Amino acid sequence: MRRRTLDIRCSECGKLIFKYVKYGDGNLVKCHKDRILKDHSEKENRDVKCNCGNVIGKDRPHIIKMKGHAVTVE
Ligand SMILES: [Zn+2]
Repeated sequence: MRRRTLDIRCSECGKLIFKYVKYGDGNLVKCHKDRILKDHSEKENRDVKCNCGNVIGKDRPHIIKMKGHAVTVE
């Protein structure tokens, strides 16, 4: 399976939120916590946010469920 290291950025301010190792070609629906190489996110209760305040996902056991259109991936 294809393996890529992605820069996941806030779609509001462009700041780097995660460096993430992704397997396969599908859309980024969730991030497995053990594949996050760098984490610049902030947590507030179950919300995972950029430090500009943009909510990018929900904290779940072992994963972060990503919110559509809240990040850009390259
Ligand atoms: Zn931001």
